[in-house]
Amino acid sequence: MAVSHTLLVTGGAGFIGSHTLVELLAAGFDVVVFDNFQQGSREALRRVQALSGRSFPCVEGDVRDAAALDRLFARQAELGAPIDAVVHFAALKAVADSVARPLAYYDNNVQGTLALLAAMRRAGVSRLVFSSSATVYGEPQALPYDESHPIAPTNPYGHTKAMVERILRDLCMAEPDFSAVTLRYFNPIGAHPSGRIGEDPHGAPDNLFPYLTRVAIGQLPELRVFGTDYATADGTGVRDYIHVVDLAQGHVAALRHALSGPGFTAVNLGTGHGTSVLELLAAFAAATGVAVPWRPAPRRAGDIAAAWADPRLAERLLGWRASRDIAAMCADGWRWQTRHPDGYAASGAGSGNSAGKP
Ligand code: UDP
Repeated sequence: MAVSHTLLVTGGAGFIGSHTLVELLAAGFDVVVFDNFQQGSREALRRVQALSGRSFPCVEGDVRDAAALDRLFARQAELGAPIDAVVHFAALKAVADSVARPLAYYDNNVQGTLALLAAMRRAGVSRLVFSSSATVYGEPQALPYDESHPIAPTNPYGHTKAMVERILRDLCMAEPDFSAVTLRYFNPIGAHPSGRIGEDPHGAPDNLFPYLTRVAIGQLPELRVFGTDYATADGTGVRDYIHVVDLAQGHVAALRHALSGPGFTAVNLGTGHGTSVLELLAAFAAATGVAVPWRPAPRRAGDIAAAWADPRLAERLLGWRASRDIAAMCADGWRWQTRHPDGYAASGAGSGNSAGKP
């Protein structure tokens, strides 16, 4: 890269954020992380620094805190390293929790983004990459989902992502200088191949893959397969699982696109391949030698039978495509889980508010 860019990465201490930092640093970007450490881990940031051989500032704060954001932008400008663009991960992300606590989701995800956008405007920053989700599509009218599929989320979490996309679209219309790339993630799983960083959900995981690895390691007795009577090849739910490192690299491509010129763009990040729950279990057993005990269970409320991406726009527009297969996702996710049976907590640093600064 001819010119070095400094990025603000909100939520950089989380699962996708930490993996994306590794790729951004490898691509030559400078980063400043802003995270409230409610879900993210300080230890993850220490490890990103060790893996990349680069240090970076980490500011504890909440995206709803306008004054904290103003201070951060001003400080970077004073240091002669003004923020050029923002990669915005910071958000709440559990679907069932969003049904139980909708106000927390609208507040963190929508209000938080509005506060961030206002601070960006005050600081004259007009480049954004936003973490969205394939859940904005809702019940599939046709598969694969392409980016022109209707937006019809079925839960508060999905509504928060769809609302932010709408806000960004309107902002790009109103301000011809602004550029926003919103990335509609499919199902990120796995971990960095080093086994040093990975997914560290607090409490019992909601998502299939971290649940499965916790059963595999003996911390949970068995996997419940939610629905064995869907209209899919083997009756179980089908999803587009994507290696978290591929997803992270998609952010680097999206950022380059955001830096290249103004406008609003929504892009799927998926592989284009669907895998059923039972296929994932078989792939996990083949990759790791561990057969995970499971039993059929009723369908989970709000689940759809099948979802996978049309990934062609990402390739055409961003020059990015996923390259890692299910076997790599399983092997890498299992390496992280076996080396860190208790996640980051066992490193003595914890993942909560008690940990020291990196
Ligand atoms: N799933 C399951 N057992 C679990 C968690 C998930 O059978 O303990 C199924 C779920 O019904 C869906 C797939 O695994 O078909 C992926 O679920 P996940 O929550 O990981 O992603 P999402 O449903 O949000 O795409």
